[in-house]
Amino acid sequence: MPFTMEDAKKAASFWDVPGCKAGVVTGEVAWGLLQHAKAHGYAIPAFNCTSTSTINSVLEAGKALNRPIMIQFSEGGSAFMAGKSLPNEKGVLQASILGAVAGAQFVRTVAPAYGIPVFVHSDHCAKKLLPWFDGMLEADEGYFKVHGEPLFSSHMLDLSEEVDEENIAICQKYLKRMAPMKCILEMEIGITGGVEDGVDNTGASKDKLYSTPEDVFKVYEGLNPISPMFTIAAAFGNVHGVYKAGNVVLRPELLGEFQAYAEKQTGVSKPLFFVFHGGSGSEKHHITTALNNGAARQHLVGAKEMG
Ligand SMILES: [Zn+2]
Repeated sequence: MPFTMEDAKKAASFWDVPGCKAGVVTGEVAWGLLQHAKAHGYAIPAFNCTSTSTINSVLEAGKALNRPIMIQFSEGGSAFMAGKSLPNEKGVLQASILGAVAGAQFVRTVAPAYGIPVFVHSDHCAKKLLPWFDGMLEADEGYFKVHGEPLFSSHMLDLSEEVDEENIAICQKYLKRMAPMKCILEMEIGITGGVEDGVDNTGASKDKLYSTPEDVFKVYEGLNPISPMFTIAAAFGNVHGVYKAGNVVLRPELLGEFQAYAEKQTGVSKPLFFVFHGGSGSEKHHITTALNNGAARQHLVGAKEMG
């Protein structure tokens, strides 16, 4: 019997999610933890890590708070993990692939000792970075053959710069490849403002910074028949990285509108799983509204952005 949102509501602690364990979680267990977070109104924080010491600090904080956490690698962060002197040619991105895989293997080795469940995730992957994504999926497939689960818990595709139809079509293609391994896909629709990992969205038009219920539902319609294991980074004026404060207005209540629209179409209560990018520094009432509307993963500013 699959773990349902009803089961998640009844589970007092995340430790009650079937199969929950210390160390890296994937598949049904990882999805069960996201369901638990959504059912109980909290988010699992994700931190960009670039080194074993930044990974350790996140694991240490997770242990101190007894909470599941996500360690994630950006494409640039992955290349840094492998070593700055390695070649990382456009269209190949061999150092970024090596660094992400090495980071995931490090997390897998040490995470059980910290006594908390840990997701290993990869962050924003734009169209030009797809070779990095392919390389990580190859590593997942190789790991799956031996261990029956992917190396990573989840990956993010960010094709928000493309038109929606192409964005969804590429996500469908990759979700088909990820579904047999029960690897979770995060996708982005609409644009997260600001600058991160060298991608500058400060000039994005204001309407792109807010998704519509119809846009978001199209993602659900396109992906849900392939696998239910996907999350949506919808745009509600959220911004991360380097930006000028006050440029856009954060409207997390939009997530409630997206859920209500999807609920009307499907008859399922709050069927969408959202990701809140750029949660760091947001006011508490904005975070609470996002959580009440089904944000199950929160992408926080990691150590990478401190320097
Ligand atoms: Zn982000």
